[in-house]
Amino acid sequence: MRAAGYYRPLTFDARSEQAAVSSIERFCREGFHTLARVVGPGQPPLAEVDQYGVLISYLEGLGRGEALVVIPGPRHLSSTLDGLVGRLVELDRAGGEVRCADADLPDPLQSALESLPFAGRPPVQNRRVRESLMSKAARGEVLGRTPYGYIADIDGTFRIEPVEAGMVRRLFDMYAGDEPPDGSDGADAADPVGGPGLRRIAGIFNAEGARTRSGRPWTPVTLSGMLRNRAYTGSYVRYGMRIAGNHDRIVPREVFNRAQAVMASRSPVRRSRALTPYLLSGIARCWSCGRGMHGIERNRRWTRADGSVATRSYRYYACPSRSSGVVDENAGEEEQHPGWRESDLDRAALDALRAEPVDTLRASFNPPEDDAPNDELRTTEQQFLESVRLVASGRGGVADLVTPLDELRATRAMSASVSSGARSGFTFDDALGSLETAEPTELHAAIASFVDRVIVHADRVEPVFRTA
Ligand SMILES: [Zn+2]
Repeated sequence: MRAAGYYRPLTFDARSEQAAVSSIERFCREGFHTLARVVGPGQPPLAEVDQYGVLISYLEGLGRGEALVVIPGPRHLSSTLDGLVGRLVELDRAGGEVRCADADLPDPLQSALESLPFAGRPPVQNRRVRESLMSKAARGEVLGRTPYGYIADIDGTFRIEPVEAGMVRRLFDMYAGDEPPDGSDGADAADPVGGPGLRRIAGIFNAEGARTRSGRPWTPVTLSGMLRNRAYTGSYVRYGMRIAGNHDRIVPREVFNRAQAVMASRSPVRRSRALTPYLLSGIARCWSCGRGMHGIERNRRWTRADGSVATRSYRYYACPSRSSGVVDENAGEEEQHPGWRESDLDRAALDALRAEPVDTLRASFNPPEDDAPNDELRTTEQQFLESVRLVASGRGGVADLVTPLDELRATRAMSASVSSGARSGFTFDDALGSLETAEPTELHAAIASFVDRVIVHADRVEPVFRTA
């Protein structure tokens, strides 16, 4: 497989640079990879971001090709665990799959769990991840299986099995649907809408009498496993432990990526939830039970008259005590725990604050200590770490870390905006001005500096000012 080396000068010692290059060369030689390029700091040394930019440009210049990115160790890409995950995600999008040159621990995530700090804490000693991976590999569960659509040659190389490969192509084509139109009105490029769901596709296959390799009917679970399998794009390099070489792709990378986007859009928690925090999170409380209102997102799908499928997501706040967790806008008055559309509750809370006399606001102005957002941040950090461990132990791929990373970044941004308001010269006038802006993080800080909480009823809100 084609490989590009990448290293940073971690100490000011020419010999360590030489050692970095040698380790990359040895890894490629032993794995029969073609080392096409080594991206080093250069002379005079490039700034880190610029050097990284060279690597990204190189990968993107390969067109649809893919390459291994070989680094001496995770520190050469980032000094923190989350920084490393961010880079792995970016490199993955550019077609680069990262390996560490250490033959004992080639997986960058496993290596990073053992060597990089996270959230100001020292690296987690995580031998369990390694052990579980190794035992899995020994049983051949992860690495020894030949994906449906291929047969393994005697040397382990995958060759396409035409009948199975035809099924794989149909699956991807049906599920991924058509290419979305470009966002010509300046809006974001539209999400792909996708074709029929997994249950329906399984039904179609089974009705034709098609069966899995083990002779069983197709199920949504088997199909979703296939949709996630990067082997179909011609890449099968997992954990650096088995390298099958360049096998032929069954599915074009664009179709594969579109299928991933459709899957993400159909999973219960969409990415956009993480990208846009809820304005009143940590502030809005149920009048009845006092619990914090949760921000939730639901996707609605419907079929248009022409047979195409449309989706739209709706964001709500709901008390976690609601029996169903479902927000029905026509809920009867017997519903004790409120649920509101996000936009309605945000507007009601802002209107309530803007309606107060300036003197009341001035008297209540008291930017909060950042304990509450820190609690939320700790939880998000813990979830992120858990996701990294899962992927490092072989369940899922780098793409599965996109959502946890987005969550982490969004929570940090929110937390930083609140605490910077608390610490550094966030004045009453700033807060008052922010009530008129539409920037969610500033708004959140402003609201939190006036009110301790906003009590949410079924049909109205009640701000509780910080000092009154
Ligand atoms: Zn409640």
